[in-house]
Amino acid sequence: MDKFANIFVAGHRGLVGSAILRALTREGFRKVVCRTSAELDLRETADVRRFFEERRFDYVFLAAAKVGGIVANNDYPADFIRDNLMIQTNVIEASRRTGVGKLLFLGSTCIYPKLAPQPLRESYLLTGALEPTNEPYAIAKIAGIKMCQSYNRQYGTNYISVMPTNLYGPHDNFDFAQSHVLPALIRKFHEAKLQDSPYVTVWGTGTPRREFLHADDLADACLFLMDRYDAGDIINVGTGEDLPISELASRVASVVGYRGDIRYDTQKPDGTPRKLVDVSKLTALGWTARTGLDDGLRRTYEWYLQNSAEAS
Ligand code: GDP
Repeated sequence: MDKFANIFVAGHRGLVGSAILRALTREGFRKVVCRTSAELDLRETADVRRFFEERRFDYVFLAAAKVGGIVANNDYPADFIRDNLMIQTNVIEASRRTGVGKLLFLGSTCIYPKLAPQPLRESYLLTGALEPTNEPYAIAKIAGIKMCQSYNRQYGTNYISVMPTNLYGPHDNFDFAQSHVLPALIRKFHEAKLQDSPYVTVWGTGTPRREFLHADDLADACLFLMDRYDAGDIINVGTGEDLPISELASRVASVVGYRGDIRYDTQKPDGTPRKLVDVSKLTALGWTARTGLDDGLRRTYEWYLQNSAEAS
């Protein structure tokens, strides 16, 4: 991408899109365009088409999506499949019509079969049944991948799909009802510190293992792949390392400065025992994640302290 390329970041207020926008700004890209959902509803075909016709983008980062935790996915399955299909279809088709040079579509590791072996390789896509709780969301993401690949085949476009592992960072969701484990623990330990609580309750047994990638590292990988990756095959982005939830809890406690006990509520579900992506394809291209977990946790905690009103 040259510094004067016309770039559209769809979803710039989210965890991923905001990180991509920060990376593009830091790297000195001059013509980066963003729209809030109030300014442009990406579910509206005619509006999206008009916007793309006026702007004529060279590059599109498609990070706009309806996302949520297990409860939201369970309660609003129709919204998840409909909104995501509409957003991605509108943006991909408007990109084709207006000759966008390259598009990067953000997927998720929930596209892999529930019982796929670990670490998750890209080739496991569509080899088995999905996790039922977020199946509508995952099906929309798989449709997006297949749309990019089909457009490349039929129209000769250059649309790539990237599958990030569990992400964290600024603009994450810290609401207990919806959040994933990492922001939930930051908030739990922070509140326990303020209230001098003798212990913090962590869900499950603490033994499940998870991998965590800082959103700024994902953004860095997205810029890298926009320049260096042209294949239609999907590509994973992760750190290649995971850790048990109990270890994560101790690290969060130390970053937050909480000195009380950690207890486990084994009545709460553990979920899948392990979720780790195989990053060998990306490493072979020459990219590796840079942010260590302690450093990433510290930065995320700082952001939370400054933005806890927005975050909760
Ligand atoms: P998952 O990666 O899709 O399973 O989603 P989560 O990030 O919500 O949960 C990961 C693991 O962290 C599970 O084993 C949870 O039981 C555990 N966990 C421990 N404490 C918490 C918490 O306060 N919130 C959440 N969401 N998960 C927690």
